[in-house]
Amino acid sequence: MNTNTQISAADREAVTAAEVTTIIGLEVHVQLQTKSKLFCGCSTLFGQEPNTQTCPVCTGMPGSLPVLNKQALKLSIKTGLALNCEIAKHTKWDRKNYFYPDLPKGYQISQLDQPICGVGYLDISDSDGAFEPKRVEIERAHLEEDAGKSSHDESGRGGKSKIDLNRTGTPLLEIVTRPDMRSAAEAKAFLQSLKMILTYIEVSDCNMQEGSLRCDGNINLHINVGGQKIATPIVEIKNMNSFRAAERALDYEVKRQLAEWKETGGTIEGAPKRTFGWDDQAEVTIAQREKEEAADYRYFPDPDLIAVVTTDEQIDAIREEIGTLPSRLRNDLVREHQLSEYDANVLVNQGRGVVDYFLSVAKTCDNSKLAINWVNQEVLRHLNETNSAIDQYPIGSDGMGDLLKRITDGDLDQTRGKDVLSAMMEDSIDAAAAIEKLGIRQVDSSELDSLCQQLLDANPKVVAQVQEGKVKALGALVGQARKINPNVNPGTLQANLRKMLGVDG
Ligand SMILES: [Zn+2]
Repeated sequence: MNTNTQISAADREAVTAAEVTTIIGLEVHVQLQTKSKLFCGCSTLFGQEPNTQTCPVCTGMPGSLPVLNKQALKLSIKTGLALNCEIAKHTKWDRKNYFYPDLPKGYQISQLDQPICGVGYLDISDSDGAFEPKRVEIERAHLEEDAGKSSHDESGRGGKSKIDLNRTGTPLLEIVTRPDMRSAAEAKAFLQSLKMILTYIEVSDCNMQEGSLRCDGNINLHINVGGQKIATPIVEIKNMNSFRAAERALDYEVKRQLAEWKETGGTIEGAPKRTFGWDDQAEVTIAQREKEEAADYRYFPDPDLIAVVTTDEQIDAIREEIGTLPSRLRNDLVREHQLSEYDANVLVNQGRGVVDYFLSVAKTCDNSKLAINWVNQEVLRHLNETNSAIDQYPIGSDGMGDLLKRITDGDLDQTRGKDVLSAMMEDSIDAAAAIEKLGIRQVDSSELDSLCQQLLDANPKVVAQVQEGKVKALGALVGQARKINPNVNPGTLQANLRKMLGVDG
């Protein structure tokens, strides 16, 4: 056992950041998107009147019997496949016993030794380059039922505590990672990537405000000092209710643990795990109760439920339904369509419908770069503003592809293209009709020459700048040109001006 008794306060103080490794593992509770609870027919709808969605089964009345929700099992397997997990062919149910006011049965039905999903992994990367791409291993993912919700009147003595059992029995998948993350940034990237996958395969809405995705982090430090490796006691941080909160809580805990060790030293290994909460307002972690050991829960197999057997055919059918996974899709978009990581991420985060829309537009206009710009800007802005889905977008992918093809071919510039798009949306017409309506036509070369001459005559300062080598100054003339003739193409205009002034580039 390493103890700090051998390490002097001066040596502890001299430890640098390079000698400290942060070790983080996560436990993520995901509420599965089922209509009814895990073992009864009660609704899982959020935000209903308290205690209106309960029955004898989820409130644990004597004589009631649980029946497994098949959809919850299917969504768990779907998640497991998306996270590259081994799927158990045989899984069973265990009772996790503890007494708490919001748990009327006195136990939670969970999975102890035969989780539905075994070892798997999730690859993470960071577009800002804060860390190298890496693989985070998943230890397991098991299905369990949620408890109810207590709220306490903290106004003082005599205050009331209230219990809402609507959430009791809601299906949760608990995903446990190995302690593979080395920074708060990696943990945040893991959560973001996980959310992207789960929403993409429609397993959960991952709405953190409504508690559909809850995250606890286990964190400690390994410190190399005086030829020894010291580990600080593991702290479990609860209550990290947003990705930003998770990142800040973990960052804070790194500093807190290092400061505590430098100050107090003391025995480290074998120290019990502690539980802290994150106070987002005060931006500190606060010590809570001592962590129960697994034995405290007195787990035993649930005698009311039979084991679940899953066949290869069932697993294959679910795999088929998932299709291409988001991470793979993102890589394909970067490789085959030359999208930036950022653009590919934005697109994939919108779900399969938007990705398919983009692919169809890019194919029609044969210009991925233009297609991604228009989909990520024009189309997504409209969807956000109107809070609608891609299948409600007024312009189909053929129509958008047709418009962008005209821009690619040089018949339209992007500014005029946006006018055309507006007209298409306003009047439900195609690009050709919108172009006709707006009176857009090609500017012929004699028209262009006389327009250019007019601009050069009116702007002697710009001409002088260009002749001094500042060719970019010509950009100032585009706006003026458009006022005279809105049909003029900025690229063609500038090329013609350069030709007339006898400058290259
Ligand atoms: Zn019920």
